[in-house]
Amino acid sequence: MKYPAIQNFINGKFVSASTTKTMDVISPLNGSHLSTVPMSAYKDLDDAVRAAKAAFPSWSRTPIKERVQVLFKYKYLLEKYLKELSELCTEENGKTYNESVAEIEKCVELTEFATSLPQLITGEVLEVSRGVECRTEHAPLGVVASIVPFNFPSMVPNWTIPNAIALGNCMIIKPSEKVPLSCGRLAEILKEAGLPDGVFNVVHGDVEIVEAICDHPGIEAVSFVGSTKVAKIVYQRATQNLKRCLALGGAKNHLMVLPDAIPDMTAQNVAASMSGCAGQRCMAASAMVAVGGVEHIIEKICDEARKIIPGKNLGAVINKDSQQRIEKYITEAEQQGAKILVDGRNTKVAGSENGTYVGPTVIDYVTPEMSVAKEEIFGPVISIMRTKTVDEALAIENANPYGNAASVFTQNGGMARYIIERASAGMIGVNVGVPVPREPFSFGGWNESKFGVGDITGKSSIEFWTKLKKSTTKWNPEAGINWMS
Ligand code: NAD
Repeated sequence: MKYPAIQNFINGKFVSASTTKTMDVISPLNGSHLSTVPMSAYKDLDDAVRAAKAAFPSWSRTPIKERVQVLFKYKYLLEKYLKELSELCTEENGKTYNESVAEIEKCVELTEFATSLPQLITGEVLEVSRGVECRTEHAPLGVVASIVPFNFPSMVPNWTIPNAIALGNCMIIKPSEKVPLSCGRLAEILKEAGLPDGVFNVVHGDVEIVEAICDHPGIEAVSFVGSTKVAKIVYQRATQNLKRCLALGGAKNHLMVLPDAIPDMTAQNVAASMSGCAGQRCMAASAMVAVGGVEHIIEKICDEARKIIPGKNLGAVINKDSQQRIEKYITEAEQQGAKILVDGRNTKVAGSENGTYVGPTVIDYVTPEMSVAKEEIFGPVISIMRTKTVDEALAIENANPYGNAASVFTQNGGMARYIIERASAGMIGVNVGVPVPREPFSFGGWNESKFGVGDITGKSSIEFWTKLKKSTTKWNPEAGINWMS
């Protein structure tokens, strides 16, 4: 075991969980045993809630301009530890080192945004009648929780951590049991940045802790990022318990490629979008709709896919189960009559035989009823469907239950606008394969890719992490009494 057994982080200290149940943390790169992660119980969560509750009065009363000083230091420390954090991310998640560097750089950007919150949350004030003022302020909620998935061990936690704590909340995070190491390191870095004990806590575990978070009466709000199946469970359970909840789910993102698209740029973008982070991105291109004569572009996409080398510029998928699930999808599509143009099955990386790799895969002549067309594969696979018209392509995109992202590749601005208006997704790209909005724009999908109101990052997150206080004041008795006194 490379690292000591993982512990929870409660009230500024690493502490053992109250249970002895653990899971192994295995590196997807080579199958090596990295550590064990505790499957915490309700009592451990309760300890974290108590610590967070105790920290809340002082933290929430600290002026926001002082609170964000911690985040300026945190940003500096993320940059200082970039190499170490990137290596850890690659080790536990399996993505390439360069992808991990990009992930930590994104954490820096998310933190930069949080340091700008004092500028963004100024309230409003107006003399609403003679001598009477109304004023609004954003108040923190209290103890909040964040439940995160395996595919971005540092970035998705940082979608919520900096904003929630800058806005005065105290937080408990439940990392993915598959990649628990990065969150523990983030906790240490936040402490080094000067965050008071109890403001940020980490409780490891699986279903039991997620359910406990949804049920615990001391937790005011729950943010969740993960699969749609679990997003629905969490959203229903947390709101049933009268908590505020924002639950981001899975995705099936469609790229529409039109005959006038610039061939090289389109092929490079499509290949990068479907294979980046081994296809384990909720913004990955997963289905491509080829509209009309785009044979020449499909050929180039295959050429680009063949340049992607597992173990070099393509990371591993998270575990053996995922590897088998992805390969099963490819085999099923083949049996149903689709044509595998580039085949990533049975990939082995020399020297990392126990790594869980799937090579880039391009499947053509997919029909909308095949499971590769409908379901989230979460691997480096693109399924190509063909239509004669843009409206047919839009009908396919609109019929899918998800709604994270959709992209169009074309040089025709009018056509791009037509698609922006009609695609049923929260984030749209034009000649962009991974249309993630950068700060200060907010991140969030539609339909079954998100349950709840607002987005998880950017300005939109202010509404989620705070509640509005409205005060009406009068100091001058001579203002008299009127209907609104
Ligand atoms: P997951 O849903 O399996 O797990 C997410 C979290 O929920 C983990 O912390 C896990 O421990 C917990 N969990 C798992 N099963 C549970 C259950 N039955 N009850 C309660 N909690 C449970 O997701 P994952 O496999 O870690 O991540 C991949 C998924 O996340 C993909 O579907 C991907 O699209 C999605 N994702 C979405 C976004 C987005 O912004 N919409 C971003 C990243 C990932």
